[in-house]
Amino acid sequence: MPTWLILDGVIRFSSWQGTSSFSCPAFFFFMNIPSMDTQTNKKTFSVVPGLNMGLFEPKDLETILQVINKYDVPATKITSAQRLALLGMTEEDMAALQQELKDHTRTVAKNGVTYVQSCPGPKWCKFGIADSLSLGKKLEELSMEKPFKAKLKVGVAGCRMCCTEPYVRDVGIFASKKGWTLVFGGNGGGNPRLGDIVATGLNDDEVLALVKKCLTVYQEEANPHSRTARFMERFGIEALKKRVLDK
Ligand code: SF4
Repeated sequence: MPTWLILDGVIRFSSWQGTSSFSCPAFFFFMNIPSMDTQTNKKTFSVVPGLNMGLFEPKDLETILQVINKYDVPATKITSAQRLALLGMTEEDMAALQQELKDHTRTVAKNGVTYVQSCPGPKWCKFGIADSLSLGKKLEELSMEKPFKAKLKVGVAGCRMCCTEPYVRDVGIFASKKGWTLVFGGNGGGNPRLGDIVATGLNDDEVLALVKKCLTVYQEEANPHSRTARFMERFGIEALKKRVLDK
């Protein structure tokens, strides 16, 4: 029975071309394979390891390539969530492949977010204003007291271009010269929603603290299995601000 595997956080080639003189570099996001969750559609299986926001190192690429060749993986695909999907394996090969990759696994934060997408930020992009990779790493390590009621996706962008689409993530953050802007309750799926701006002009500590406050309210008030987008439609940005912003 064919199976497929997704290596999280793999390679993102951004081909954005905002000006004639600029095109974003090829962005490499390293996979780090944590607790590989599996999925199936009855005919195929997938494994969704977690991210590390990391950049690919040569040894990581070598390991991936060796494993792909060893198991003769029929197809590989870069997904929109900065993951690498390994497609069409047998169930047995998938299990063995998982085992081989487990040493590349990162420790997943307890009750953490589903994944964080981050752009390369100022170190690698001339438009970058603030260190999106460092902030993304902190968000990946964020650990809550309780589990979330649904998937929780995060997008962090190093400038207002918003290459990682923070307005359509549960938690979206982008930088401007005044500091970080926090957007909450976005969704890019079949029932899309632009997130609401919670606050602007935040420093690293402030935005992290505010994310945690928003997530705590979401955990306390959202209906079971409700994504943040549906929660915010019901709860409202003004009510959220009253709960999370200091008077
Ligand atoms: S969001 Fe800004 S800093 Fe990040 S990759 Fe896009 S243009 Fe560069």
